[in-house]
Amino acid sequence: MLGYEPALRLGAFLSVLGLLLLAERLAPWSHPRALGWRRWLPNFGLVALGSVLVRLTFPLGVVAVAVWAQGAGFGLFHWVGLPFWVALPLAIVLLDLIVWAQHVATHKVPVLWRLHRVHHADPEMDASTGLRFHPVELWLSTLLKMAAVALLGAPPEAVLIFEIILNASSLFEHAAIRLPERLDRALAWVIVTPRLHRIHHSERPEETDSHYGFFLSVWDRILGTWRGAPAGELVLGVKGYRATGEQRLWRLLTQPLR
Ligand SMILES: [Zn+2]
Repeated sequence: MLGYEPALRLGAFLSVLGLLLLAERLAPWSHPRALGWRRWLPNFGLVALGSVLVRLTFPLGVVAVAVWAQGAGFGLFHWVGLPFWVALPLAIVLLDLIVWAQHVATHKVPVLWRLHRVHHADPEMDASTGLRFHPVELWLSTLLKMAAVALLGAPPEAVLIFEIILNASSLFEHAAIRLPERLDRALAWVIVTPRLHRIHHSERPEETDSHYGFFLSVWDRILGTWRGAPAGELVLGVKGYRATGEQRLWRLLTQPLR
């Protein structure tokens, strides 16, 4: 399975993206989307540049760190001697919690918020918003994940599954789709749905400071950052950075400096 890592990750990414683009046409969220696909070039451009940066600086990637930890017997799970069938799900759940905490930090630490603000400044939402992260933020997330994987001694299979889940979750929760209400409410008990994540993209500060989850919705429920519904009509984006001219790739790359 690990030998096919790039193919598995790319295959999952393209399949999920294709399905969501189709779902956005078949069951669209009725929120106005004046720019629509015109945001795709900058949004996809950011993730492409970020991927090149990560690839050049960490050519072997996060899964390779797990393979190294396994070989060296390094990390909490190896020291404790956890069996694989416990380590696999536990690693996925703990990595999701770490990404949740990282997300909170990107909102609370001013210099990190400048990077993460590029993601929030999207004045509209669709699956491409799930890829719109400043290359430096993507690089820092990769560094954090590598450290977490090493310290946990997470099994390589768990890391590969988590990377695929995290990527698919990010595309899914930003997608401009409207799920049937009962399905949405059932899913929201376990995972973050687009309805929940849109609350996080509201410009109202108390709503931006809620729903930090990426994959499992449980962290917001138990850690006190759950709201469940917006206070009124959703206004997406960040004040001062919503203009069409601000959505160009170069403006997004330099936005943290302004
Ligand atoms: Zn955020």
